Parts: sequence; C-alpha cells; structure tokens
Amino acid sequence: MTHVFHRHLRSTPPVADSAAGMRIRDADGRSYLDASGGAAVSALGHAHPDVLAAMHAQIDRLSYAHTGFFTTEVAEQLAHELMRSAPAGMSHAYFVSGGSEAVEAALKMARQYFVEIGQPQRTHFIARRQSYHGNTLGALAVGGNAWRRAPFAPLLVPATHVAPCYPYREQRADEAPAQYALRLAAELEAAILAQGADRVIAFVAETVGGATAGVLTPVADYFRAVRAVCDKYGVLLILDEVMCGMGRTGTLHASEQEGVVPDLLTIAKGLGGGYQPVGAVLAQGKIVDAMSQGSGFFQHGHTYLGHPVACAAALAVQKVIQRDELLPKVRADGEAFGAMLQQALGDHPRVGDIRGRGFFWGVELVADRGSKRPFPAALKLHAAIKKDAMARGLLCYPMGGTVNGVDGDHVLLAPPFIASRDDLQEITRLLSASI
Ligand code: PMP
Repeated sequence: MTHVFHRHLRSTPPVADSAAGMRIRDADGRSYLDASGGAAVSALGHAHPDVLAAMHAQIDRLSYAHTGFFTTEVAEQLAHELMRSAPAGMSHAYFVSGGSEAVEAALKMARQYFVEIGQPQRTHFIARRQSYHGNTLGALAVGGNAWRRAPFAPLLVPATHVAPCYPYREQRADEAPAQYALRLAAELEAAILAQGADRVIAFVAETVGGATAGVLTPVADYFRAVRAVCDKYGVLLILDEVMCGMGRTGTLHASEQEGVVPDLLTIAKGLGGGYQPVGAVLAQGKIVDAMSQGSGFFQHGHTYLGHPVACAAALAVQKVIQRDELLPKVRADGEAFGAMLQQALGDHPRVGDIRGRGFFWGVELVADRGSKRPFPAALKLHAAIKKDAMARGLLCYPMGGTVNGVDGDHVLLAPPFIASRDDLQEITRLLSASI
C-alpha cells in the first residue's frame, strides 16, 4: 500500500526509476520516450552532464542560504543572464520555486504596485477562460477553468474571465484574424469598464495557451490589441509563460513573437528544465522602482526563494541552450514536427485541429469534424489516450478541458529541445497509433 498522497487516490502510477536523454525508465524496466517533457518542463532531456556538474559544484560550495540574510553569486548571475535577454524595460527577476508561486507573486506585485502609487482602489483581475495559471488560491482564481475553481469558491482574489484567443473554435468564418483580434480586445475593454475603468489591476494571459487547451496560438495582432486596451486604462499586462516560455516556442520568450512587452512575465518549468524546482517573475523597472521608492519592501516571500542549487541548475540549462544553439534548432525542427503531425493526423476523422509553434504542439480531438463537436467528457478520451500511449512507451500530455461550456480533449506535445528528427518521427508514429 502506498503512503504517498497521489492525486488519483484509486490508482498508483508506475515507479519512475532512472532517466537519460529522451527516455525515462520505470522500476519494471520499461522505457518511455518523453514527448511532453513532463508537462513542458524538460528542455535538455534527462541527466545532462553540464547541468549535473553545475549542480554538484554548487551543492559542494553552498547548498542553501536564506534570502532574508544573503544574496548569492549564482542568483545574481542568473538574474543578470535573465535581464540580458528580457523584454525591454525589465529590471529585476524575483525567484520562486515553480509556476504557481510565480503567478502568485506576480499578482501580489501588481496589486502592491498600485497601492504604492496611490491607486489602492484597483483590486480586480481580468483573465481568460480556458487558461491555466496554477493551483494555489490566487493562481486558481485567475485560471479559466470553472470546474477547477468551483470546489474552492468563493475565491480570495476577485477575477472575471473573457474569451481566450481560440481561432479553431471561436473565430467566425467571415472574420479576418485582425477583426477577430479586435473583437477580443473589445470584449476585454467591456470587461474593464464593467468593473470600472480605474478598478482593474491587470489582464493575465498565457502568451500561448497550454495545459487546458492543447496549445492555443494567438492570431497576429491579438496581443498588440490587448496591450493597447490595457494601456488605455492603466491596466497592467501580466503574461504567464510558465509553460510556453524559455525557448519552448522557438524564441526565448513567446511574447517576442507577438510584438508586445508585458509589465510582469512569469517563467518556470523550462527555466530549470526539471533539474530543480525554480521559477521567476520578471518585472518592469517602473514596478520595482515604485516599490523601492515607496515602502521599500515587497510584502511577500518564501523560504526557498533563489535557492542556490536551483539557480545553478537554471543557469546551466540556459547556458547549454545558448551554447548548443537550441533555439534555432527548436524553430527548424519544430516546423518539421508540425509537418509530421499534419501528415500523420491531418486527415484523421477524429482530429479537429493541429496547432503549435516550436516544440509546443497540440492536437484537438473531436467526435465530428464538420460540427467540431467534442467527445462527451464522461468518455475521458484523454485519459484513455494517455494510458494507451504509456503502454506503447510514449509519454504525451493529453487533457480534457471545457471550452465555453463545451468539453474537449486535447493532446499536448512538448518534447525536450534535444529531440532528434527520428525522435519526432517516433513520437508522431506512436501517438497516431494511440489516437
Ligand atoms: N502557469 C502555467 C501557464 C502553467 O502551465 C502552469 C503549470 N502547468 C502553472 C502556471 C503552474 O505551475 P506549477 O505547476 O509549477 O505550479
């Protein structure tokens, strides 16, 4: 009997025992090809020697120092590296231990910013349906799945939700992408005005949607239109790139492809590539300056902030990505991966849409392609695919979600950046067999 509190209480998963490169091995000796990097975490695959060496060196030198007393050389180096490549105007990185913590810190940073500049009446967040921002209470409140929030209502953070950018389901047939972008921006504006033009703290969105929607790539101009609405009302733009960031879509930050600069940017998963739990909020100088010149103190913090070994792992991961020129590789091989998926699954009667960028792809499953009718949620198709794929030795990331009240099944693919074209072919072959 297990004493680990597993999330699914009526079944115990296989025991992961060891891993190297693209593969994880379980205690029964079965080998799995990692097509999802866990949940879009692994960038360099498993047991990368440079990352292990950097972590060992850091553990030997200094394994822990509380940020209430010290900074560390490695945290300073990582922040320096992140600022070197950050969107314009960013000045600081606030380190945390994961994605939910990053979102939670960003929400509080945004709120405190307005308190510091004398606008404490701004208390409301606007986010999007069909989004995922984490499971802590603040992140859950801005998350877009009503069924995830429902058991914990009333939530502590006031938030309303507008439509995501979801062309496959929500762009009208007679609507050009630019018109669709403007329609969504108008909905955001209406939501801001419904709260009161000076009551909203921030609009929170994943730059490329992930965990609940099988990858949602925005149409061109969407984020520019959204940024313009935010600017009109002094509302901050918080982009959550916990899943889609740090190279996953072929550029370091996904927002680079949208031509917008966020006020706060959350990163995690790929930052440490799974070697350590680590995340960060990258913050615009104006926000840090307001706090610095105001109370001089961010009213937030955790015991493991800026953990030296986590920072060493993240720094090593980011150095390897640069040294081995993995971002151009992700762009080129990502395009090839998309073509492989299209060729194998594009005509499949149960595949409605295949979309993605870089090494971040989603396959949306439908019961009927013409009407785009999803499979009934009760069927739990995504769970069946996950199980079947694992039996074939493939780790992919299927999930079921709710699209404006319509349930749907998606498979998310997010292989480590080191995946070869042969690996991508094998992933495509195994997934097609499962579907
Ligand atoms: N934001 C996004 C966009 C995510 O995809 C996730 C995790 N799937 C989170 C936040 C939460 O991250 P974590 O699970 O590390 O707390």
